Amino acid sequence: ATGDRVPALVIGSGYGGAVTALRLTQAGIPVTMVEMGQNWNAPGSDGKVFCNMIKPDGRSFWFRSKTDMPTDYFSGGSIDKAIPSDAGVLASEHFANMRVYQGRGVGGGSLVNGGMAVTPQQSYFQEILPSVDAGQMYSTYFPRANQMLGVNSVDQSWWSSAACYQFARVGKKTAEASGYKTEFIPNVYDFNYMKQEQANTAPRSALAQEVIFGNNYGKKSLDKTYLAAAAATGKLSISTLHTVTKVAPAATGGGYTVQMTQNDVNGNVVAQKTVTADRVFFAAGSVGTSKLLVSMKAQGALPNLPSAVGAGWGNNGNVMVARANQGWDPTGTLQSAIPTLGINNWADPNGPVFAEIAPFPSGIETWVSLYLAITKNPNRGTFTFDQSSGASVLNWQSGWTQPSIDAAKRVFDTINKKQGTIYRTDLFGVYKTWGDDFCYHPLGGCVLGQATDNYGRLPGYPGLYVIDGSLIPGSTGVNPFVTITALAERNIENIIANDLH
Ligand code: FAD
Repeated sequence: ATGDRVPALVIGSGYGGAVTALRLTQAGIPVTMVEMGQNWNAPGSDGKVFCNMIKPDGRSFWFRSKTDMPTDYFSGGSIDKAIPSDAGVLASEHFANMRVYQGRGVGGGSLVNGGMAVTPQQSYFQEILPSVDAGQMYSTYFPRANQMLGVNSVDQSWWSSAACYQFARVGKKTAEASGYKTEFIPNVYDFNYMKQEQANTAPRSALAQEVIFGNNYGKKSLDKTYLAAAAATGKLSISTLHTVTKVAPAATGGGYTVQMTQNDVNGNVVAQKTVTADRVFFAAGSVGTSKLLVSMKAQGALPNLPSAVGAGWGNNGNVMVARANQGWDPTGTLQSAIPTLGINNWADPNGPVFAEIAPFPSGIETWVSLYLAITKNPNRGTFTFDQSSGASVLNWQSGWTQPSIDAAKRVFDTINKKQGTIYRTDLFGVYKTWGDDFCYHPLGGCVLGQATDNYGRLPGYPGLYVIDGSLIPGSTGVNPFVTITALAERNIENIIANDLH
């Protein structure tokens, strides 16, 4: 409530925030978590907490009157549908030339993501974050993150005949027959539960076209792992539908005043609140944290933040593409929404590519193979504060995704040539091959060792920390949440040991 003074306030409940909440509460420090999205635990009128991808409703998108699907066209027409504009679970935030998809709710991105839990190659981690002791990361913090997140692997003998992974078997066969290596990717979706879905002995979730608007069953999202453990300490309180708008040094008594707006699910303002916190942890995600810090610096609330705040943003080299398989290679009418495989061509000196073999769960046979390619794109965007609109904006130029397209094109041109197949040009627009104007993996904007010290402390402002994906300089070569979690584990351990004892 307004006027409260709290020891630790965490902005955002995604990976960085959840790790922070657990480790602080375990150290005996009460945590006040502020999350702009909903607590997704109450069923709607259909008895389900989340809607699926085929019948999106007000629970799908964060305040949009029309869906904004990543693959938003099919066979010459837009497939986006009118929906009620509510506090839905998936945000597609539009900047010039770049739409950024993010989770909204208790658990952040873990509510909407594909659950792929990938530890990056140590050599690449060392390349992107040379100031971090990689030996310690790989012996201590990556294993800790994987264990806490509940990562598991698919039973490959089950997988090799499960109807719901026909699409992945086609993706594997066509890649390997074209000279590329594929590998199984661990996940936080419970594969034993999925076996029951396939056998029709449990309610379907991954097999019922559920993922980007949430999974009703099966997925170990953060509310079931880190945040549940933090809540069990009795020291965690979470304010949902509260958006932090300002952080500034408190006038008296030290610490920081934090201003926030409380909304209802329809977007109406319920209250404005101000609390004071001894310590504030920015865990609003790469976009959320960068936007807040850039505007606090420009508007004079935190004027002495380093100039590196807002810089070093990247899309993890994301680009999407789809192929049309041969008529004898159907990808299946039943597709698990949870991916299991990646094409690993990262070692290619001409252009590293790690491509997720993604599902396209439409319920009908489409012969489509869809891929989310992660590439090594050197371009970096910058967040700046636009005085005229009063908003933080991302500067990303339209040509900047081209290096990602070039790298992915080498791989998929080769597969198409060897298989005698073609690209699907009808999924990202009309005659548009590349899904190059959006990303799932925003990273950077407050880079470790540049905008912060080597553990996320904001220089000049004791008690302010950054602890989410904004610390990672634009790329991690694989799907990012394991890296974000492991880095947060490392940083919070150092912060507790040195600043809180
Ligand atoms: P987030 O998880 O984004 O959490 C930030 C939280 O802060 C959000 O809950 C947000 O609502 C809240 N917030 C923001 N601003 C404010 C504010 N001002 N006040 C209060 N609260 C605020 N990664 C993988 O590793 N594997 C995958 O398979 C994968 N699939 C993905 C699929 C999709 C569709 C998407 C969108 C992402 C996917 N990702 C995947 C990416 C992954 O989810 C993100 O990298 C990760 O969630 C980022 O963690 P974070 O802690 O930085 O921030």
